[in-house]
Amino acid sequence: MLPYGRQLIDDDDIAAVTEALRSDWLTTGPRVSTFEKAIADFVGAKHGVAVSNGTAALHAAMHTLRIGPGDEVIVPPITFAATANAVVYMGATPIFADVDPDTLLIDPTAIEAKITPRTRAIIAVDYAGQPCDWDRLQAIAHHHKLALVDDACHALGARYHDRPLGTWADLTVFSFHPVKHITTGEGGCITTEHDHYAANMRDFRCHGITLDSHAREQRGSWFYEMKELGYNYRLTDLQGALGASQLKKLPGWLVRRSEIANRYRCAFAEVPGIVPLSFRSDRTHAWHLFVVRVQEHLYGLNRDQLFTALRAQGIGAHVHYIPVHLHPFYRERFQTGPGLCPLAEAAYAEILTLPLHHGMTDTEVDQVIEAVRIASKASGGPA
Ligand SMILES: *Cc1c(COP(=O)(O)O)cnc(C)c1O
Repeated sequence: MLPYGRQLIDDDDIAAVTEALRSDWLTTGPRVSTFEKAIADFVGAKHGVAVSNGTAALHAAMHTLRIGPGDEVIVPPITFAATANAVVYMGATPIFADVDPDTLLIDPTAIEAKITPRTRAIIAVDYAGQPCDWDRLQAIAHHHKLALVDDACHALGARYHDRPLGTWADLTVFSFHPVKHITTGEGGCITTEHDHYAANMRDFRCHGITLDSHAREQRGSWFYEMKELGYNYRLTDLQGALGASQLKKLPGWLVRRSEIANRYRCAFAEVPGIVPLSFRSDRTHAWHLFVVRVQEHLYGLNRDQLFTALRAQGIGAHVHYIPVHLHPFYRERFQTGPGLCPLAEAAYAEILTLPLHHGMTDTEVDQVIEAVRIASKASGGPA
């Protein structure tokens, strides 16, 4: 099965991890620091704080913003559940604002309509790897005095107005899960310009323990204090080594991803009813996912039928995502459900993710294109 996304690990990566294994440090140590600095430099941010996964990174972001019970945080419905779950971890309420149907990015106008006196923050997701409208999001956050968080788990290496994602929001979150642009097995990172957020998130990932060097000098080197409730969200040095090694290859991988996306776009321009999501010319897409809308009246098959036809040929198409507000947990806990975000719900019926990863060959890309072409013909085309 050709998966929709997967990692690429080479001998350099294996050598880097092996070297870490033979060293004195296994958990968070010098290789994590090197990796954090490399991520921060890559996106042009002052600080990078590495944690055990992207979900932990979102949790750390919500914690350091002091989101709590009674607060509302605006999120998009078309995202991985973790975006909204991080709000729920803090006892706050996620408020779903609908998406732009062309890009499936959160719609700034829909955000404004959902702001109440309880709203504290916005988490915007650069869905599929395309940056959100950061100018408008910043203006809204500034005007309403809201914190702005960028869930850039799809978008490491993407640019808005030719500046990388990583500094457009107060806190920017990345994931290093194997389907993402680079991997540490599991891993995540938050970038920020704010010294106090970075320091607080470093404590949060280690039980809320502060290593106050002055207090240590006074009391002895055994001394530490737990100032607030944190978690064990540390990244290991083995993972730091892998991440730093992977990051060196990212620029080339971004080029390859964009080549594949272009090949798909050219091919599907000739296939009625297979409509790739729009992309905006003022942004550089990082191409985490290649998503098309399957328009049954033109293509002849619906999304589910195309999904099944591709799977039967060994092509691991996928659907990103079931709108978060339709999951049973959200319906029960927050009384969400159909009708809350109609544009996201309509898109959900049509969207299909085709395989796209930097290790794919042109032959594999052409196989996917051919399979999409043939499936419609085999069905007799549109009625
Ligand atoms: C992958 C992902 C996450 C969570 O990252 P993990 O590292 O899997 O915890 C959060 N948000 C989005 C949009 C993601 O794609």
